[in-house]
Amino acid sequence: MQIQFWGVRGSIPSPGPDTAQFGGNTPCVEVRNEGEPLIILDAGSGIRKLGLSIIKDPSVTEIHILLSHTHWDHIQGLPFFAPLFSPKYTIKLYGPVHYSKNLEQILSLQMDYTYFPVRVEELASKLSFHDISEHEFMIGKAGVKTQFVNHPVVCLTYRIAFNGKTFVYLTDHEPYRNLFDDGDEVNREEGRLVAAEQTESLIKFIEGADLLCMDAQYTPEEYKSRIGWGHSHVDYTYSAAREAGVKELILFHHDPDRSDAELQRILSGLQDRSWSPMSGAVPVRLARERLVITL
Ligand SMILES: [Zn+2]
Ligand SMILES: [Zn+2]
Repeated sequence: MQIQFWGVRGSIPSPGPDTAQFGGNTPCVEVRNEGEPLIILDAGSGIRKLGLSIIKDPSVTEIHILLSHTHWDHIQGLPFFAPLFSPKYTIKLYGPVHYSKNLEQILSLQMDYTYFPVRVEELASKLSFHDISEHEFMIGKAGVKTQFVNHPVVCLTYRIAFNGKTFVYLTDHEPYRNLFDDGDEVNREEGRLVAAEQTESLIKFIEGADLLCMDAQYTPEEYKSRIGWGHSHVDYTYSAAREAGVKELILFHHDPDRSDAELQRILSGLQDRSWSPMSGAVPVRLARERLVITL
C-alpha cells in the first residue's frame, strides 16, 4: 500500500513562506494498492494537484473518494478535481450520512451557480454518491471499515486493509469527555462511563495499525481554550497511538497558524517527552505535502 499526502492543513488553506515546508493545502491523502482502484481520503484543496497527476496516469480509471465529513476544508478542492470533468473516469464519492440532506445535495450546494461556474449535473465523469455510516465494505480487494468520531458534525474515520497492511485515517476528532461534568453525582458517573466506552471503542478501531494518520491540530496548552471545537492535541494523539499499539503515527490537520518552525518544535518536544526506552515509543512524523509512505 502506498500512501501519499497532498494536503495536511486543517481549517483553511494557508500558503505562504511560513508553511512552505509542510504545505498549506487542506486535507487530501491518496492510497494506492497495486492493480486496484484508487482511493482518496478527503477532498480538501490538496486534491487539485492530485487530480492533475491522475490525468497523466493512464492506469487510473476508477476512483473512490472517502470523505471524513463535509466541512469546507474537506470538500473545497472537489470542484477543481480534474478527473470529474472527463468521461474516462468512474468516481464514487462516500461520506457520512446526514439527516437533513444527502451527500449529493450537500456537494451540489458548493457547486451552485452562486459559488462555482459548473454544476454537478454537467460533470462528464461517471459519478455516484454513497451515504454511509458505521460500516464495512470492499473497494476491490481492499477492506474498508468506518467508525464515527467526536466532531461538531457527523464525521467518520476510515481503516483500510490490503495485503496484510493497515492504514487508519482519523481526522477532525476531539477526545471524548464527560458531558455531564456539571451534573449531579449519578449523571457525572454516567457521563464518565459513556466517555470511557467511546474512548475504548476508538482505541480498538485503531489498534495495531501499521500507520495511523491522526488529527493533532493543537498543543495541550491551546486545547484548553478550544474545547468543543472538534480537534485533538498532540499529547492525546500520541497517547492514543501508543495505547493502541500503532506501528507509526503521522501528525495531521496542522493548525493554519502553525509555522514550519513551530511544527518542528512540537515534534521535537513530543519526542523528548515520549521516547524514553521504557515508554514503548511509537515512531512519529509530521504530515507533509508529497510525503510518500509505503507499507
Ligand atoms: Zn478539518
Ligand atoms: Zn471538521
